[in-house]
Amino acid sequence: MTTTQPKPTHVSEKQARQVAEAARESEWRRPSFGKELFLGRFRLDLIDPWPESEPRPDADDFLARLDAYTRSEIDGARIEREARIPDEVFRGLAGLGAFGMKIDKEYGGLGLSNLHYCKALTLVGSANPAIGALLSAHQSIGVPQPLKLFGTAAQKKAFLPRLAGGEVSAFLLTEPDVGSDPARLATVAEPVEGGYRLNGVKLWATNGTVATLLVVMARVPDKGITAFVVEGDAPGITVERRNEFLGLRGLENSVTRFHDVFVPEDNVIGGLGKGLKIALTTLNTGRLSLPAMCVGAGKWSLNVAREWSAARVQWGRPVGQHEAVAKKVAFIAATTYAMESMLDLCCVIADDDQNDIRIEAALVKLFASEMAWQVADELIQIRGGRGFETAASLAARGERAAEVEQILRDLRINRIFEGSTEIMHLLIAREAVDAHLSVAGDIIDADAGLGRKARAGVRAGAFYARWLPTLAVGRGQAPTAYGEFGPLAAHLRYVERASRKLARSTFYAMSRWQGKLERKQGFLGRIVDIGAELFAMSAVCVRARAERPDRPEGVELADLFCRQARLRAEALFAALWDNTDSVDAKAARRVLDGRYAFLEEGIVTRAAAGAWVAGWEPGPATVEDVRRRIPPSD
Ligand SMILES: Cc1cc2nc3c(=O)[nH]c(=O)nc-3n(C[C@H](O)[C@H](O)[C@H](O)COP(=O)(O)OP(=O)(O)OC[C@H]3O[C@@H](n4cnc5c(N)ncnc54)[C@H](O)[C@@H]3O)c2cc1C
Repeated sequence: MTTTQPKPTHVSEKQARQVAEAARESEWRRPSFGKELFLGRFRLDLIDPWPESEPRPDADDFLARLDAYTRSEIDGARIEREARIPDEVFRGLAGLGAFGMKIDKEYGGLGLSNLHYCKALTLVGSANPAIGALLSAHQSIGVPQPLKLFGTAAQKKAFLPRLAGGEVSAFLLTEPDVGSDPARLATVAEPVEGGYRLNGVKLWATNGTVATLLVVMARVPDKGITAFVVEGDAPGITVERRNEFLGLRGLENSVTRFHDVFVPEDNVIGGLGKGLKIALTTLNTGRLSLPAMCVGAGKWSLNVAREWSAARVQWGRPVGQHEAVAKKVAFIAATTYAMESMLDLCCVIADDDQNDIRIEAALVKLFASEMAWQVADELIQIRGGRGFETAASLAARGERAAEVEQILRDLRINRIFEGSTEIMHLLIAREAVDAHLSVAGDIIDADAGLGRKARAGVRAGAFYARWLPTLAVGRGQAPTAYGEFGPLAAHLRYVERASRKLARSTFYAMSRWQGKLERKQGFLGRIVDIGAELFAMSAVCVRARAERPDRPEGVELADLFCRQARLRAEALFAALWDNTDSVDAKAARRVLDGRYAFLEEGIVTRAAAGAWVAGWEPGPATVEDVRRRIPPSD
């Protein structure tokens, strides 16, 4: 039957960029704190005072039930041991409505706000991160969110009640040859009578083994990458493998083959060729779920760090009183406070629906995934040899089964999926320089003719004549500015000054490197990381001030975090111009050319033992299907 033989084609760097650019949401309809921050305009008014959330007794009640269920029924050690979330946990979570947290009430869901949803993920994720990943992949990138944003009324009616009731969904974009770069997507959806015929192989789909409804990204000839809702049990689908990883052992992650799978035309989401735009827009708020898990990991780490560092005595004192360990404890506390403040702030701004939060959500994903990893690493160090020992081994020796090495393993993937750190740097940097590109982009565009360049010159002249003077002076130089923040005012003055410096640095880099700036990934990464630190500082100050009447100690944590963040930001500023980026790039080229191969001598390698990227052929599956279906309870 198959007429199309999908094969990965050669895609140039330029074409890959064009695909990413076309998928980008180019318009800014609402104010964005993050965008302004990168332009040197510290719009504290967009996030302060802390936006009030609407009271939701039903959501509070759900969280209380989820809390009770998590404590009594979820056995994280068993999931780790068996590398499997038990059927009864799927059913228990479904009974609570956890698969419908983000689905509107009219479709049988709970209609939770982003804030309540993220609190729920933090909670269940702390019992076992694979459960957090199950629920988040299902509702943040799986079928519910794209349908909520782009689905037709008929699609919502047909699919959302099933998902709210406990059917699991998955999101299938990645392929053996498609990771960060979707331009190489090879799964094809060929138009046929009444719909499309899908052929291709999808890699690493979280929930892919258990999902009965899938979002599948496939290329429709002449139309582009398109999102489809696909029945997981449709004829022609084979779940070929359940993958195993460094961490998240309970994850139900698949290799899924599509062979002549018929999908009705009504199952196209949001129009032909709109797939990547849908994926990116879905991630605008979808990206908040990973930080929710990182916050859970931070809180958990703080708990272990506090109890252990007080109890373990070496060299005559609790280890937490030795300065080297004390610094780590302080880092864990401050960073956890910051991750939670950034996440909660993003959630309430998203719920408030007044601002564009795409930059802030991306910043919190980037920041939390990187910092939670450091938190877990420091926790292992504080725990000494016990940090390296598994919880089961600790328990077998009669000690408390703290899953410290597991948390490090489980957290690692957050820096890779839903936008790797490297890709997040580029994505955020693209937004950070958007104002410049929209006025002056044609000047540096090699494809722009003289007329376009001349018009851009006029536009840019007018923009920069207005904008550059605003970067010279600002509120952050007034010694009494932000006085309403009491002891935190000095930190906000710093953020205001640093925001202007950040914008000046970006402008200088654009003038210096012009079109080549996009290749200066070291520079761009630091610009973005400084932005993340400044956003984090702003978030902790605004939160501490809002909570001060009830929780004055929050000010201490905010102050602690800001002191640490300022040092990191200053180091990043210095490294903008004093670094080894270009020598590193040259050295890497020599490494790749094999110049230093002698350094690899004296060990045993397995380099020749298989292809780095497995090839695949279209056609029917040749292996057994390993899908897992959760039977209803008796
Ligand atoms: C446990 C797990 C669960 C997953 N769940 C899903 C899922 O549910 N659905 C789904 O579709 N996918 C899923 N993925 C895939 C995941 O999103 C990809 O792994 C991720 O997008 C990175 O792609 P890649 O692994 O192919 O890395 P590659 O794209 O091959 O990148 C390799 C390295 O190069 C860097 N890099 C790539 N391009 C650039 C560039 N232009 N500039 C600088 N650096 C660059 C990357 O950051 C990375 O460090 C999952 C993966 C794992 C491991």
